[in-house]
Amino acid sequence: MGLPPTGIFGGTFNPVHVGHVRAAIEVAEALGLGAVEFVPAARPPHKCGGPLLDFALRLRLCRLAVAGIPGFSVNAMEAERPGPSYTCETLAALAGVRPGEDFCFIMGMGDLLHLGQWKEGFGLGRQAHLAVHAREGLGLAAFTAFLAANGPAMDATPTSDPAVWSLPGGRRLTFVPIARLDVSASDIRERWRQQKRIHGLVSEAVLRELKNHADALEAGWGRPESEA
Ligand code: ATP
Repeated sequence: MGLPPTGIFGGTFNPVHVGHVRAAIEVAEALGLGAVEFVPAARPPHKCGGPLLDFALRLRLCRLAVAGIPGFSVNAMEAERPGPSYTCETLAALAGVRPGEDFCFIMGMGDLLHLGQWKEGFGLGRQAHLAVHAREGLGLAAFTAFLAANGPAMDATPTSDPAVWSLPGGRRLTFVPIARLDVSASDIRERWRQQKRIHGLVSEAVLRELKNHADALEAGWGRPESEA
């Protein structure tokens, strides 16, 4: 038997929060992934106009968020390519530099529903295993409905387990039910702008680093409301 796949968790991480960390841990444990790499998008194709912290700070926050979690690390590779950070290109680059290694791309249900808008999104299952976790109340029913409509376009075929679909090359597309944590980066940014506390939504180390970069936050997310 080969080594278990390495989880690749892509995202904007603007900022990374406890929802990201718990989701990645639960998916890794459910699927027996060998390791998980958080891969922050240098230039997110879908959020280009949004209030974005600079890549170096988002990267540092990710490193602080996963520090001490066995098998977890952060991969800065998307900064090395010019242009938008397309997942299909990241997976192709990984396959190029780490031949023979299996990867499992991790995404929330919301991302699966928008996969048709990603560059070669329906082809991702030809590059890596795919793990889709529940998000914001979207669970197995939404997963099943999406695959019933889009399975053929993704070359995905059902198995006897409704949470598992077969992909080309012996890969699998798996739905992972995880404990729901209603935390989002946009909510954190909004709370920060309103000068509310974000304790508990991000780790203490991430919070400390955010506080150390109040200027960068103001430039990236906008002014706290009382000063606007
Ligand atoms: P924003 O609110 O700015 O849209 P976000 O919090 O959704 O950001 P992203 O960086 O866009 O964070 O998400 C990266 C990945 O993490 C996506 O696959 C997303 O579905 C997942 N994710 C984000 N928040 C959670 C959460 N609370 N629970 C589970 N998965 C999450």
